[in-house]
Amino acid sequence: MKARAFEYAKATSLQDAFDAFARASGDCCYLAGGQSLIPSLSLRLQAPSLLIDISGIGDMRGVGIVDGMLRIGALTRHAEMLTSPEIARHAPLLRLAAPHVAHPAIRNKGTIGGTIALADPAAEFPAVVLALDAELEIAGPGGRRRTKADGFFKGLYETGLEPGEILTAILVRPFDKRDRCAFDELARRRGDYAIVGAGVQGRFHAEQVEALRIAFLSVGPAPVRARNAESAVRGRTLSPAVIADAQATLHLDLDPAEDAQTSRATRLHLARVLLGRLLGKLAREARNEGGRA
Ligand SMILES: Cc1cc2nc3c(=O)[nH]c(=O)nc-3n(C[C@H](O)[C@H](O)[C@H](O)COP(=O)(O)OP(=O)(O)OC[C@H]3O[C@@H](n4cnc5c(N)ncnc54)[C@H](O)[C@@H]3O)c2cc1C
Repeated sequence: MKARAFEYAKATSLQDAFDAFARASGDCCYLAGGQSLIPSLSLRLQAPSLLIDISGIGDMRGVGIVDGMLRIGALTRHAEMLTSPEIARHAPLLRLAAPHVAHPAIRNKGTIGGTIALADPAAEFPAVVLALDAELEIAGPGGRRRTKADGFFKGLYETGLEPGEILTAILVRPFDKRDRCAFDELARRRGDYAIVGAGVQGRFHAEQVEALRIAFLSVGPAPVRARNAESAVRGRTLSPAVIADAQATLHLDLDPAEDAQTSRATRLHLARVLLGRLLGKLAREARNEGGRA
């Protein structure tokens, strides 16, 4: 199948993009890496009359510390999560998640802004930005604003972006030596969308958890924090009993859907298994690091 005919405009600045959006007579879409949008056009799931290519906007590129926060331009490609020294040092959770995103060819084109704006509930980076307590920098015809990743993902492919707005950057508090993180997912084959996945990041005092954020993907219409599980480990050492307590709360946090391959009960069971593995990893790291301190 081929996409329906559409007009194409290349924006060289944010203002350029907003002007093109304002002039558009029918439906229009921003185009970033094209790795979700182009297949969707080819399948005629979407048929906009105008594509506004935002991939050349300089303001949306680059990774670096700005005002004490790691600023990741929205056009940063998935592959750069694996190669950027700034990401490795200041946001290692993104690096841990990146190999699970699709395949190398898609990672070379797809952008972090695109995957967050799309809000596919099975995508890795939306859950990761929740675990990181990231802020999102958004520009629109009316100006710029910032919003927390918490609350941004409203539902299936639904976000807090207003029509015409562009996600310009992701802001992350830099990783501290007291922080620990882990990411994993269960998928039928490497590169497939996950049956269930999760990212965790927390601050430790020796072996004790000061605060921990746990975010799941593929367990509902949007990425979701496991807040009851987070409470179950706060202020405690991650012993097998504490990890079991956290696992036991997951049915309160997650409401996974049933599909042709995976029942709700199986998905919930796999989420518990995954959480056990992730917390076990943090516990081992905390024990080893604590021993050296
Ligand atoms: C075979 C295949 C397998 C895949 N597997 C995975 C996977 O396992 N995990 C995963 O996470 N993803 C996967 N993807 C999706 C891939 O990660 C995409 O790159 C990503 O979802 C979208 O990023 P993009 O830059 O390509 O956005 P585009 O495709 O260009 O755009 C996607 C949507 O977001 C909007 N948009 C893009 N950027 C912005 C912005 N800055 N501000 C506002 N709106 C914007 C567009 O208008 C469009 O609606 C897969 C894709 C394919 C084709």
